[in-house]
Amino acid sequence: MSVKWNIIAPVKKPADLEGVAPGKLPEKLLKPVKGGGKLHWRAADAWEAMVEAAKVDGIELKPVSAGDLYRSFESQLMVFRQRYQKEPIPDAQTRTFEGVKWYKKDPKLASLAAPGTSQHNSGLAVDVHTASGPRLEWMIENVRKFGFSWEVVPEEPWHLRYTEGDNPPAAVVEYVTKRDGQAPAQPATPAPQSNPNAKKEAAEMPFISIDTKGQAIRKAQRLLKKHGFDCRDDGDFGPKTQATVKAFQLSRGIEATGNVDLLTWEALLA
Ligand SMILES: [Zn+2]
Repeated sequence: MSVKWNIIAPVKKPADLEGVAPGKLPEKLLKPVKGGGKLHWRAADAWEAMVEAAKVDGIELKPVSAGDLYRSFESQLMVFRQRYQKEPIPDAQTRTFEGVKWYKKDPKLASLAAPGTSQHNSGLAVDVHTASGPRLEWMIENVRKFGFSWEVVPEEPWHLRYTEGDNPPAAVVEYVTKRDGQAPAQPATPAPQSNPNAKKEAAEMPFISIDTKGQAIRKAQRLLKKHGFDCRDDGDFGPKTQATVKAFQLSRGIEATGNVDLLTWEALLA
């Protein structure tokens, strides 16, 4: 069967993969997939939604094996070493890894990306079992609805990767919402912009310490809260607020006096 298709979308990475080395994903970013193996949780949700939709159409989608979803760096390295060697082989397919050329030991072996360079190492790729015939036709028709696309067509019809990062398509949002009773999680909000007027504003604030009364107490308490510290905003500077101020000062490298002085105000207002 000759199939013509050309669905290759660029991969948008989920924000929580930022700064994570390929193949070294922490467990909290991975989610088990039915039938074994794991994917990045965004890809796992999209994959599950797609598998269920295919089932409704009488198509079974499953990975080739549990090793064909997320691959750790070590597992990719192990398979890579089985299939490639540094000693040159004439006419062999090559890969560059650790700055040198590696040669595929046997043309009959499936090619493999060098460790750390595969989307499998990001938990975003899955190899689909028997990607041909009606199954492939279904995939061509439907993968985009679930945020998947191919990487190499038509040579690797089995290799799909999830491309939509933190903005899953409507079909995935709908599926997850039904399953969990709530919409998919939003990505972690980026750190708020720092306040360029912190110094100026701090200069206008009074020095406050335990038993001080006044409006500024509530403001300090609200700012402590904003910075993630557990603090009531009752306008009462008691021992609890003092302890929180000390904790905040420690976290900012300011001497832990428990008094909100100019430097502490600056840090609070930043
Ligand atoms: Zn693959």
